[in-house]
Amino acid sequence: MTAKIINGKDIAAKKRIAIAVEVKKLKSKGVTPGLAVILVGNNHASLTYVKSKEKACRELGMNSLLIEMPEEVSEEELLSKIEELNGDTKIHGILVQLPIPKHIDEKKVIESISPLKDVDGFHPINIGRMMTGQNTFLPCTPYGIMVLLEESGISIAGKNVVVVGRSNIVGKPVGQLFLNQHATVTYCHSKTRDLKLHTNQADILVAAVGIPNFITAEHIKEGAVVIDVGINRNEAGKLCGDVAFDEVSEKAGYITPVPKGVGPMTITMLMYNTLKSANESIDR
Ligand code: NDP
Repeated sequence: MTAKIINGKDIAAKKRIAIAVEVKKLKSKGVTPGLAVILVGNNHASLTYVKSKEKACRELGMNSLLIEMPEEVSEEELLSKIEELNGDTKIHGILVQLPIPKHIDEKKVIESISPLKDVDGFHPINIGRMMTGQNTFLPCTPYGIMVLLEESGISIAGKNVVVVGRSNIVGKPVGQLFLNQHATVTYCHSKTRDLKLHTNQADILVAAVGIPNFITAEHIKEGAVVIDVGINRNEAGKLCGDVAFDEVSEKAGYITPVPKGVGPMTITMLMYNTLKSANESIDR
């Protein structure tokens, strides 16, 4: 079997067109969705991500506000900036680009963002809402994965889903979203014994590990749907995922490539969440 490619770039482009249409409608009512991104320090990768978010906002007709703070900024100053943005009616989404310097308590920062503007979906209140199936901002990468499956016509109810990785931003929430859609979910992580025993049961396998080529053909069942979240560099410095694409795509039914798979969906869902927040702000 040669797997069908789930083209995240095309699906993201389609979603972005729909978002731009909604932004236009909202603007005609006098509201322009606004996203504030706080970048602390000079992390090169973070700067690249932040620039892509600004670009996406511009392309969709949203306002973006980039706040750059020096590496040595105090926790108090950062929290005070977030407080100011919480009260700014022109700002509908607030995002602090992670990682932040070690002298600042990440948990405190996440919890200081108003849950009404937490477009990353990291605030414990929003995580609780997601777990209980309430209206909330879903975390962007997991949400993007669910949209990829939906757009590819892949059903979820009753399927065995195996998530390799249990981070707070990808693994844990994506498993929860599958559970909310009636899948039977197994989480695997670095302490899992006999990983293949679990992954071979997967109708849908999500790899969010951060190790190049970690998932090989031996890990998967014939015809499985394989979602590769990883963004890594291989020994030659080339961008690659967690899945050994060439061999796995010979056995899988569907597969997301890296790049052009999950990656483009993350910023798209961030834009979607900012639009949603702006829409909801009208009714408050
Ligand atoms: P983390 O490092 O936070 O988590 C990695 C997870 O993999 C952990 O739960 C860890 O287990 C597990 N793991 C590590 N080694 C093994 C092993 N040998 N066997 C089984 N599980 C293992 O990473 P993230 O979740 O933040 O990111 C994962 C990947 O996804 C990275 O490549 C990252 O760059 C990428 N990413 C991509 C995004 C996108 O938009 N496409 C967005 C976010 C991340 P344990 O908990 O036991 O340590």
